[in-house]
Amino acid sequence: MIHFIGAGPGAADLITLRGAKLLGEADVIIYAGSLVNPALLGYKKERCTVYDSASMTLEEVIAVMEETEARGGDTARLHTGDPSLYGAIREQMDRLDARGIPYDVTPGVSSFSGAAAALEAEYTLPGVSQSVIITRMAGRTPVPEGEKLSKLAAHGCTMVLFLSTGLLEEVERELLEGGYAPDTPAAIVYKAAWPEEKVCRCTVSTLARTARENHITKTALITVGGFLGDRYDRSKLYDPAFTHGYREAGK
Ligand code: SAH
Repeated sequence: MIHFIGAGPGAADLITLRGAKLLGEADVIIYAGSLVNPALLGYKKERCTVYDSASMTLEEVIAVMEETEARGGDTARLHTGDPSLYGAIREQMDRLDARGIPYDVTPGVSSFSGAAAALEAEYTLPGVSQSVIITRMAGRTPVPEGEKLSKLAAHGCTMVLFLSTGLLEEVERELLEGGYAPDTPAAIVYKAAWPEEKVCRCTVSTLARTARENHITKTALITVGGFLGDRYDRSKLYDPAFTHGYREAGK
């Protein structure tokens, strides 16, 4: 059996209990060494073979899974954050389906959650934004035209950009073109939940400069929006004047 497992954003204790248990039982671990903290390999059992997928092709990854399966072993495929975001798991699952190899998926704490924790921020502030757009700047992997950054930026809501740290001049241009004011608060979160985590607060118009000054070129998320500012409305849920299913107003 193959287990796709979300490793969490960095710190070894941010994997789920289920993920850690499956890692401990695996005969083979294939992990994305470019992004997964090697500290997570501390969960493996002694007799376990480890592959770093950073230098492997999809075909090579599937071949390792197939061989392990043929020997009756379990493979843990460890992906950074949550595997559902930019994890390239669909293409693996489709090939496993074609070979009749069973698998399951264990979610993980995505780096966008890790970044919010590092910022001590809430993405969905009442009166500011009730939506989070998770996207990326088009790079070598194209983004569908309807999801062009400037078009998404027109919503003015909270945005979290993956895989875009090397393209911040374009990011700035598209965010401004889409309608964010130049002084809209923004933040670059480098290696959230790693020991070397770094949070750089700036504005939409100073993203590229801030990354340059802090020598940040990869493994970072760009967050943008009024949620990083000081103004918001208090929640209805905990407002004494608001009645809901679990509490009556005035109580
Ligand atoms: N599945 C992962 C994302 C993989 S794509 C997740 O859910 O987090 C890889 C990109 O994720 C990186 O280029 C970077 O933009 C972001 N990323 C991954 N780990 C990160 C971390 N600890 N801190 C900040 N950004 C991170």
